[in-house]
Amino acid sequence: GPWPARRIRDEFFAYFRSKDHTFVPSSSTIPYDDPTLLFANAGMNQYKPIFLGTVDPNSERGKLKRAFNSQKCIRAGGKHNDLEDVGKDSYHHTFFEMLGNWSFGDYFKKEAITFSWELLTQVYKLPKERLYVTYFAGDPQNNIPCDDEARKTWLDLGMDPAHVIPSKLNFWEMGPTGPCGPCSEIHVDRIGGREVPHLVDCDDPTVVEIWNNVFIQFNREENGSLKALPAKHVDTGMGFERVVSVLQNSGARPYTGKFGAEDVDGIDTAYRVVADHVRTLSFALSDGGLPNNVGRGYVLRRILRRGCRYVRKKLGAPIGSFFSSLMPAVVEQMGDVFPELRKKQDEIKEILDEEEESFSRTLDRGEKLFDQYATRAKEAGSNELSGADVWRLYDTFGFPVDLTRLMAEELSLIINEKEFEAAQERSKEASKGTFKRDKADSVKLDVHDLAALEKDDAIPKTDDSPKYQLG
Ligand code: ATP
Ligand code: MG
Ligand code: MG
Ligand code: MG
Repeated sequence: GPWPARRIRDEFFAYFRSKDHTFVPSSSTIPYDDPTLLFANAGMNQYKPIFLGTVDPNSERGKLKRAFNSQKCIRAGGKHNDLEDVGKDSYHHTFFEMLGNWSFGDYFKKEAITFSWELLTQVYKLPKERLYVTYFAGDPQNNIPCDDEARKTWLDLGMDPAHVIPSKLNFWEMGPTGPCGPCSEIHVDRIGGREVPHLVDCDDPTVVEIWNNVFIQFNREENGSLKALPAKHVDTGMGFERVVSVLQNSGARPYTGKFGAEDVDGIDTAYRVVADHVRTLSFALSDGGLPNNVGRGYVLRRILRRGCRYVRKKLGAPIGSFFSSLMPAVVEQMGDVFPELRKKQDEIKEILDEEEESFSRTLDRGEKLFDQYATRAKEAGSNELSGADVWRLYDTFGFPVDLTRLMAEELSLIINEKEFEAAQERSKEASKGTFKRDKADSVKLDVHDLAALEKDDAIPKTDDSPKYQLG
């Protein structure tokens, strides 16, 4: 079609270059100086010091007035966590590119909204009647008024008033603390020929959010209060993959009007998961991330293990070197735009393979045990897996709890999260040496059913799983 992905990105860049914006390379997906953040979750992250007013005004950053780029984002863990949606819908990925433009104390709402309208309707030529926008409805409690300026700007541009919708959700925050402000979002009706304001922001796959214009004015402080920033800024983010999918009319099941979800055998879902996870892992590892047992490293390990199970269960492929075998495709597709992908290819492949092999040793037996637990729960007329069972899968078989939750969901079971957390807490205490015997008595670690599974060889504990170092 006329809209190859590359051209869509390039047109975005060309548009903002023509509006006097400066290109700033994407920051790493692994933040090196922000402990409040697991992974880069938006284009604005790297500008936090500018927003907060802590940047040296004479530095290159301090002098920056207008910027644009494509930011590598990972939304797994933390405030913006999309891991559990991946594959189930067609528009949430854990890794995606966020195209963005920024004003640092320069232009504000009117210009920002006008830029996005022009780009969408004049450059990308999206039909106006397919677009819906939302603006902040106000927050009387925090004394933030309804955003009449945003509303008026959209109407002045000629938008149908029925497509300009107030929303209480339109207040964007990067995390529990950090720069934030009211926002105005743009949504596309992928079907057309109908009026669907009621489907906006409802997670309806036919009306998808593509772009957010955030008007950064506050900092969310550690005590939860909002503090006005020294200047007002614009921070926008447009989902690259979403725009590509809209302009190419792909992933949209154009003939049936159905999008994603009704994937009876789960195979489409598995392909989407795998395609997403290989990108996330490739980018995170090329930026210096490593799978391990804590923090962001554990998020990466969870992503890989979750992916492995989809590969084995739904795609019927062996694991051991599955993800590394897909990496060349990622490098080929994206290596020109993100050259860092090429640099450490061999080391990354080794890490992925070791990680997969280590999990392949326990996946089989863990699954068998899971089936026993599930059957036992169902036979007892319960729809719940006990926390001790979930703990056992985690502790002995390296099943991250979100993987067990996913497997349980497939059988219409839930897991007892409280019991699981308690078991985890007890284990932490035990390893600290402050373990109390009377507490331990309440842990029902049912190991009898393990005997049959465990006899062939020793089961590696997750703690023994590989530890890596990148040279
Ligand atoms: P959604 O409501 O669909 O979860 P969001 O409101 O969380 O999106 P923002 O934080 O406003 O998203 O991010 C700006 C833009 O980035 C969105 O308008 C969307 O186009 C894109 N985006 C957000 N999350 C994802 C994701 N998980 N995968 C792909 N694109 C995304
Ligand atoms: Mg979201
Ligand atoms: Mg949203
Ligand atoms: Mg949004």
